[in-house]
Amino acid sequence: MKRLAAQEQRILSLVADDAALLHVATPRVRFVNTSNGPCYEALFNRIELDRATLALPEPLLRIVVAHEVGHATQRKTMLLDFAWTVLSVMMLLSVPCIVFAISSEDDLWRITFPGIGFAFTLFVCLKIWSVRAAKRAAAFELDADAKAAALCGPALALAALEAMAARGHVDAARLDAMRARLVSTSQ
Ligand SMILES: [Zn+2]
Repeated sequence: MKRLAAQEQRILSLVADDAALLHVATPRVRFVNTSNGPCYEALFNRIELDRATLALPEPLLRIVVAHEVGHATQRKTMLLDFAWTVLSVMMLLSVPCIVFAISSEDDLWRITFPGIGFAFTLFVCLKIWSVRAAKRAAAFELDADAKAAALCGPALALAALEAMAARGHVDAARLDAMRARLVSTSQ
């Protein structure tokens, strides 16, 4: 228990150091027992670290921490993205509500076709949004990896990504990007 508390203190000081180097407000840290892997919650400016990640060797753990603090530098953009998505969905959903509100019961058949058109538009918009969100999330990951590599070096960053990939938390695109970074810095 004592060892765990000491390790948590060590993580907190690592987070504070990385945040100072990256010029961002120090995120809070939440230690959890799940096995979902580490993550950053922009809404609360909070890093979540699971026990399996804490069991990584110290150099790799430092990279994971640096990556998560790297996400804190994207906080404003993440929150604006989230706000924009919520606003867009609300605006889109308000259209049929307004149409129903101003139509009389007798007119309901007249809104059937526009209704179908609306449902189709909503479906297309949600598809576009989900593709865009996936692209944005991938870009955020690459950017956080780049910040971790800048703080701790690309060789260690790659080793950490490989360790996380073995647990299924990192995709091939991130590994490839880090390998390319390592090659370009060693030339
Ligand atoms: Zn990440």
